[in-house]
Amino acid sequence: VMETDGAMKEHSVELKERLEKQKESIHVKAMLTFREKLPAHKMKSEFLEAVAANKVLVVSGETGCGKTTQLPQFILEEEISSLRGSHCNIICTQPRRISAISVAARISNERGESLGETVGYQIRLESKRSEQTRLLFCTTGVLLRKLVQDPSLTGISHLLVDEIHERGMNEDFLLIILRDLLPKRPDLRLILMSATINADLFSKYFGNAPVIHIPGLTYPVQEMFLEDLLEKTRYAVKSESDNFQGYSRRRRRQQESKIDPITEHFEALFIYYDADISSVYKSYSASTRQSLEAWSGSETDLGLVEATIEYICRHEGPGAILVFLTGWDEISKLLDIVKTNNFLGDPTNFLLLPLHGSMPTVNQHEIFDRPPSSIRKIVLATNIAESSITIDDVVYVIDCGKAKETSYDALNKLACLLPSWISKASAHQRRGRAGRVQPGICYRLYPKMVHDAMLQYQPPEILRTPLQELCLQIKSLQLGAIGSFLSKALQPPDALSVQNAVELLKTIGALDDAEELTSLGRHLCTLPVDPNIGKMLLMGSIFQCVNPALTIAAALASRSPFVLPISRKEEADEAKRSFAGDSCSDHIALLKAFEGWKDAKRSGNEKSFCWENFLSIQTLKMIGDMRLQFLDLLSGIGFVDKSKGANVYNQYSDDMEMVCAVLCAGLYPNVAQCKRRGKRTALYTKEVGKVDIHPASVNAGVHVFPLPYLVYSEKVKTSSVYIRDSTNISDYALLMFGGNLIPSKNGDGIEMLDGYLQFSASKSVLGLIKKLRGEVDRLLKR
Ligand code: ADP
Ligand code: MG
Repeated sequence: VMETDGAMKEHSVELKERLEKQKESIHVKAMLTFREKLPAHKMKSEFLEAVAANKVLVVSGETGCGKTTQLPQFILEEEISSLRGSHCNIICTQPRRISAISVAARISNERGESLGETVGYQIRLESKRSEQTRLLFCTTGVLLRKLVQDPSLTGISHLLVDEIHERGMNEDFLLIILRDLLPKRPDLRLILMSATINADLFSKYFGNAPVIHIPGLTYPVQEMFLEDLLEKTRYAVKSESDNFQGYSRRRRRQQESKIDPITEHFEALFIYYDADISSVYKSYSASTRQSLEAWSGSETDLGLVEATIEYICRHEGPGAILVFLTGWDEISKLLDIVKTNNFLGDPTNFLLLPLHGSMPTVNQHEIFDRPPSSIRKIVLATNIAESSITIDDVVYVIDCGKAKETSYDALNKLACLLPSWISKASAHQRRGRAGRVQPGICYRLYPKMVHDAMLQYQPPEILRTPLQELCLQIKSLQLGAIGSFLSKALQPPDALSVQNAVELLKTIGALDDAEELTSLGRHLCTLPVDPNIGKMLLMGSIFQCVNPALTIAAALASRSPFVLPISRKEEADEAKRSFAGDSCSDHIALLKAFEGWKDAKRSGNEKSFCWENFLSIQTLKMIGDMRLQFLDLLSGIGFVDKSKGANVYNQYSDDMEMVCAVLCAGLYPNVAQCKRRGKRTALYTKEVGKVDIHPASVNAGVHVFPLPYLVYSEKVKTSSVYIRDSTNISDYALLMFGGNLIPSKNGDGIEMLDGYLQFSASKSVLGLIKKLRGEVDRLLKR
């Protein structure tokens, strides 16, 4: 013991000497000058004293004040300087992969080290860290997985949980666990970091833990609502044409038409929105979110965004533009619009950068560095740029006012991911992004009235999403009964949502009747995907069609590669249908499209293939990356042995009946019954009764299906309830791969889904199927 103590001390001295030496470097000195200007720096000693004196500390501060990059570093340096370096082990969680990477890279750079030395990161399936790493950034999901191996987080000295104001499900979940863990780990220091939103809520949750506020330093940001914007552009147009007063009418018109192609665009929009806004003001009564939905559809008006970008480029001074859009679809559409309309003129004058959570990595330099003043940087982002990533040179923010968020209807078991209005708190964050280095302007592409009616805060994710993944985690972390554990949350989800999740997990065979994990359940815990998708992957490898299972699972876990251009919708539908062939399956269409892309890539005509078939190359690449990650996961739990070669696991990969059966195994209990009604087929599901096929599905035009059931990826509710992405399957697939089977009450058949689905089959068939399923269970026990 003495000897290791001695070694530790020696190591600590070494670390301190290294730190002192680092500080001599010119680069580190320059970085230090920058760091010392951040508002967080002024609070350094107060912060360190509070960390030393309290087990739990809440820190709030305006975005960009230096919480994420500075506070963990302060702790690190303090520990090293006071010769505790070899004991210190700091972890800081981030809600998103991309911020974990970018922050770790930034701090390493500030310290003049390469990434993975003292500062590292770890995200799902990827890490950069070493023996020397003392400060690790990881996603909240990764930390939750660490807790499975080590429930008391042995050896971790400081844990910082970042962006808790976002109220993500993982963060809320982690806080419950940590609150229970703290008494068992008296030496652990917990620091909760949040933007300046509701910090007291977290303090209360942890027995009135002290709160430190870092005062922000931002420039004023002018706010322009849609009506102001329209007024101003109308004025700009008018005053410019006034310049041509002395000209002949013909000459004047010539000049006018030269000044501003934007004019027409804005004028048209003006008339449209003017009428629209005033009608809304008139009909607008209670400040409910519903009345907001009535104002404009769920999609952002990209034409308006385009016109606003153009307006800024023509009429405002230099500075980067940050555009908030709802998701990848809108970002890629806008990129296309900008490229095709070419309204910005010479493309070399612009730097157009997408920024969204599912991007594998960001090019740090492009996003953060300032381009030469002749080049206008335009960042098209999702709400990821709201608080976790700060781009200093932003002077103009364009806020579409919406974000894509899930909402969960527990009664009908419906989850949808739809763009909806953001909260006032988010709107405030977005606006603040424009005042980092000089006064800025925030263009709100909605009227003030909409802003006034926004909710103060967005409800936490735990109240808005299906809970099955969370319930699995609770079981795998052995946190006791699901219901009583969740009742300890900051805002507990309602009992029906919990019950639905538990029931689903039982239905797919992940939990047994006593709510304990089955062997399938245990594997699903290790796969960081939706349990249904996880089951599809496992069954795909058991039944030797792993390639199609990987592709379909990856597409379902990310997004559809099919783009739907509004102007050429019919051609796009046709392209998708031709991939599906006669399979009556959107999933097979996905699969064939992906395989087609692979072939096209090999033969060098990727671009034309994707263009002709209305496919997004970006999305296909993302699916390709994700399938490889899934393959790693499967090999990690021994379901695939990469050394054996792919063929072993692909005996049935070209057998579409088998692939559909595996799809059924994964998607169950999302099953609809096809019932003939004269010349047409009506579809029924257990929860909501009659449903329709989504118009974008290859099955949309089918009147009579060859097989009696459809499995589907999700139900969405708009004007009616639609099933999206469906596959026609046989009753045999359902019997073999569906849920629990019981002899039917009237004696001569079998029932599934508690009597909802009935099959006429004898008891001996039931016996046989049970044996076959037992065999599958045996294969799952590895
Ligand atoms: P907070 O967590 O309080 O929002 P951060 O610590 O993330 O603030 O950022 C503090 C400042 O550091 C930002 O305002 C920005 O100027 C700078 N910064 C952060 N990350 C980078 C980066 N990757 N490249 C350049 N500057 C960065
Ligand atoms: Mg931060």
